[in-house]
Amino acid sequence: MAEKGRAAIFTGVGEPMEIRQYPVVDPGRGQALVRLSVSNICGSDLHVWRGDTGIGRGGGLEMILGHEMTGRIAKLGEGRTKDALGRTLKEGDRVVFTYYSSCGHCLACLRGDDNQCMTSLMTVYRPAAEAPHFLGAYGDYYYVSRKQSILKVPDSLSDDMVAGVNCALCQVIHGLLEADLRFGETVVIQGAGGLGLYATSVAREMGAHKVIVVDGVAERLEMAKRMGADEIIDIRELTDARARTSRVMELTDGWGADLVVEVVGFPEVMPEGVRMMGRGARYLTLGNISPKQYYKEDPSILVGGNRSIIGVSLYPPIVLKRALDFLERRKDTYPVGDVPKKYPLEKINDAFSDADQFAKSKKGVTRASIDLGA
Ligand SMILES: [Zn+2]
Ligand SMILES: [Zn+2]
Repeated sequence: MAEKGRAAIFTGVGEPMEIRQYPVVDPGRGQALVRLSVSNICGSDLHVWRGDTGIGRGGGLEMILGHEMTGRIAKLGEGRTKDALGRTLKEGDRVVFTYYSSCGHCLACLRGDDNQCMTSLMTVYRPAAEAPHFLGAYGDYYYVSRKQSILKVPDSLSDDMVAGVNCALCQVIHGLLEADLRFGETVVIQGAGGLGLYATSVAREMGAHKVIVVDGVAERLEMAKRMGADEIIDIRELTDARARTSRVMELTDGWGADLVVEVVGFPEVMPEGVRMMGRGARYLTLGNISPKQYYKEDPSILVGGNRSIIGVSLYPPIVLKRALDFLERRKDTYPVGDVPKKYPLEKINDAFSDADQFAKSKKGVTRASIDLGA
């Protein structure tokens, strides 16, 4: 292929991303070249952009950020003929795919836990200057490697509906399964961003008796209700953590939640969430990806009440299928295709600063997507 494609290059924390052009090389054996249509800004991307994770600090690594995306097959490498369900793949097919791959020979991989492989995220954070260049979501193209799974997207689902599949939706489905959410349990969700909203619907679908969502933004709380929340706790009304914990106790017959899900991305919320747990309850943390942030807790609360904290990162590829099936089944029940705001690639710096400003001051945009024009 002789053409070129655009990509937004992250050159370091605090630097604006630069739009550059790279040649679009033919996919190698087993690979697939995808022309992206929509890419979302996930909370993890914001953490990297702000410098919370250590990636990109001090410059040096010029790369394309982003991992939550969808698009259509532009070209298939030799031998990549079918999707993960054995259906024939061809140019133009709309697809979702895992954004990571595992090494296949570490202990986690031997155990079958691909998502726990130490090298799983190395597919994302790679130098953009080296071919095949397009290994992040904020560009015209993305190269799916031989080891990454691909699934065709049903015609009934729009690109906006499926853009969040390969991070947010799969992440909460796998997290709730790992946290062993059971029929009839009560769930508290801390944070109604992308993951929190999906978690609300998925918990509902998994048979939760009551889903309680905690956030401080009117649009998000409104959306949480549309996504299936039974109760909302508005931080602007209940400004004190103790008042919020009491409210959860009230809503759970004085017992506390069976499962509390953290999708805020900051450890400060954990002590509050732990106090919302009933005896024998689980606390699932999905959002705390940044190192060297701490929270203080009295561990006897965990021991004495048989409470546990569970951390979950990534998901097994089968969850892609579960996520698409869920969207197909429930797209008319929940507003899964609603996108708060879309930006063209050239405006990616505005998209990031609007999303970041929102996280800090509740002004800006609740969740941003990049429209890649395909
Ligand atoms: Zn491995
Ligand atoms: Zn993500």
